[in-house]
Amino acid sequence: MSTIAKNIAKVVSRICDAAQVSAREAASVGLLAVSKTQPAHAVREAHEAGLNDFGENYLQEALDKQRLLDDLPLVWHFIGPIQSNKTRAIAEHFDWVHSVDRLKIAQRLSDQRPAHLPPLNICLQVNVSGEDSKSGCAPEEVAPLAAAVAQLPNLRLRGLMTIPAPSDDLAEQRAAFARLRHLLEREDGLDTLSMGMSQDLESAIAEGATWVRIGTALFGARDYSGKPDTNQGTPA
Ligand SMILES: *Cc1c(COP(=O)(O)O)cnc(C)c1O
Repeated sequence: MSTIAKNIAKVVSRICDAAQVSAREAASVGLLAVSKTQPAHAVREAHEAGLNDFGENYLQEALDKQRLLDDLPLVWHFIGPIQSNKTRAIAEHFDWVHSVDRLKIAQRLSDQRPAHLPPLNICLQVNVSGEDSKSGCAPEEVAPLAAAVAQLPNLRLRGLMTIPAPSDDLAEQRAAFARLRHLLEREDGLDTLSMGMSQDLESAIAEGATWVRIGTALFGARDYSGKPDTNQGTPA
């Protein structure tokens, strides 16, 4: 078995254990493989080992990879910060966008979604930890933003996404994810909680995650050395 296949087996077993603890069906938790900074062959290997959903943060890197992998039936998720001038390519080349945090971006994605494609699946990114440096709308902005996004014709609003402040404390992890779940419960017709990464997927599943976004635990540590001007804080 390749390293990636072994890592996938470990992550799947963590997901199954966490689901069992919460009396949830493991199948209700999607595994989104975060392939940012990873080469196309690593994505191909992960697909051969059973994964179909891949998350990318950097538009140009994602488009290059998609071209190398267009023989595969992959589902692409955009999960990084979005600048207005990137919305057209995102609307054309992705199936999901998890990181919508303002109406202007949603309007552009809807306007620019090609007519031959199904509506673009959207999650609103929420800043549940209240840090100034993080992207995401404030919790009190969720209801009005969701109402406005739900009106846009070429988008399908699915749910909410968050990246809480990292914490080793399980109670703190769960409290942040619970805040996102409570916000979702106030909305009608939404079915998606995109939350949980390599370090905290168990806490996220305990609070109802339907997508966990996993990079390091699948592909190993990321190497940013070849990408001087793309770090996690830089918009796509
Ligand atoms: C990089 C990234 C992840 C994956 O993080 P890991 O800790 O490597 O699992 C998940 N979500 C988003 C939005 C990311 O940018």
